[in-house]
Amino acid sequence: MTEHLIQLAYIGSAACFVLALKWLSAVPTARRGVLTGVAGMALAVGGTLLAPEIVSYTWIAVAFVIGTVIGVPMAMMPMTAVPQRTALSHAFGALAAALVGTAEYFHRAPGIDRVTMGALGLEVLLGFLTFTASLMAFGKLQEILPTRPIVFRGQNVFNLTVLVVAIGCAVTLVVRPGTTWAFFVLGGLALLFGVSLIVPIGGADMPTVISLLNSYAGLSAAAMGFVLDNKLLIIAGALDGSSGLILSIIMCRAMNRSFTNVLFGAFGQVQASAAAAEQRTVRSATPEEAAQIMQAGSLVIVVPGYGMAVAQAQHKVRELYDLLSKQGVEVKFAIHPVAGRMPGHMNVLLAEADIPYDRLVEMDEINGEFPQADVALVIGANDVTNPAARHDKASPIYGMPILDVDKARTVMVIKRSMNPGFAGIDNELYYGDRTLMVFGDAKAVVAAIAKELSGPSGLH
Ligand code: NDP
Repeated sequence: MTEHLIQLAYIGSAACFVLALKWLSAVPTARRGVLTGVAGMALAVGGTLLAPEIVSYTWIAVAFVIGTVIGVPMAMMPMTAVPQRTALSHAFGALAAALVGTAEYFHRAPGIDRVTMGALGLEVLLGFLTFTASLMAFGKLQEILPTRPIVFRGQNVFNLTVLVVAIGCAVTLVVRPGTTWAFFVLGGLALLFGVSLIVPIGGADMPTVISLLNSYAGLSAAAMGFVLDNKLLIIAGALDGSSGLILSIIMCRAMNRSFTNVLFGAFGQVQASAAAAEQRTVRSATPEEAAQIMQAGSLVIVVPGYGMAVAQAQHKVRELYDLLSKQGVEVKFAIHPVAGRMPGHMNVLLAEADIPYDRLVEMDEINGEFPQADVALVIGANDVTNPAARHDKASPIYGMPILDVDKARTVMVIKRSMNPGFAGIDNELYYGDRTLMVFGDAKAVVAAIAKELSGPSGLH
């Protein structure tokens, strides 16, 4: 009876996970997707707690309290810190898989069969390497560790050697499961590989790497499912592994990068560009001037970026949208797939401010409209608008598809200074003839523009 209940809970949970992924892929159904995922996890945990193998609930309760104490503050981290929060979740998930694998090994070796040992070796290898790699990724994104790639001669050979020896240990264990030393070496090298894999990767590539690590953690959990003969772990791990991989591929495509380039390209090193050295002038405008230019136009395309997220300017942007629309100006929002610091970052913020979904236009579609736009209003976006990506072969972002804001009649850029964006490079857009810089915090500047538009002069 209990066994049936557990299996029923697992089937319900697996269905919830599949539906959650489906619903999470579109903004209007995303909230339902999150709740379904939570329900799936509750069913999975509830079903597992019924297992007859459990002899005492004391340690489970202790772990539950510790997990809650760590998890609740983690959930409170601001939206802009979601990538590093995700990295921490992967670190914990992967560590759990690796530790369960370690416990199973010492519980069952040397009598463990070869197939199970193979799955266990994979679980421990992926689990430990994802643990340290995710912690490193967290450190880089939180800027506790240097975000620049750290490279040394022979690095790739070193990494490859560590990985090959670790795999050699796993093979040794499959042939002779009782070789305890090989298990220790495997665990140690996996931990080391996690660190050495991330060291040469720049902070700007971390979200892509985190998505890849998500995939590794999922595969480790699926392998754990084989070891423990738990079908739900196999299903959930496979879903996690494949969705993480698909997301990494989408992100790489959006940046026109390959996996090998992300993992071994040391993107984000300081570029000594000739253009950066020369002194160039920019034209700036006040929020009042910006309001007047927009009022006189018929199409304004807003280009949100990371700075809008940092300033939490989305509600002021909504006000601006309402005021311009009321005055007969058409307003659209151009969404770049890697604007911000995580996929869908801009969609989430604009949805939070209740900006209608049909106003949000994806990059490929909106790029054809910039030449007809009177104003491209760039709010805290930088790299995703940099024309160097189209023509400067020496630029680290060369080849990344960008929003063609420079083709609009007037480009207005709201940012606080001339500082670069995440890729750490200068943006030639700011020196263009049609560009006006409106310096200041995104929220304050958009509020000032909105104030101007709602004043007596704005009501014509
Ligand atoms: P960028 O990081 O290029 O630029 C953000 C700009 O916002 C900065 O230049 C900064 O300038 C400005 N800014 C910061 N705070 C504020 C504020 N309070 N008010 C106004 N402006 C502010 O952002 P983009 O969105 O254009 O590009 C995203 C970058 O992240 C790309 O390089 C992308 O490849 C990378 N990335 C994104 C991923 C994703 O999934 N979204 C994944 C992997 C990488 P200033 O300091 O002068 O204000």
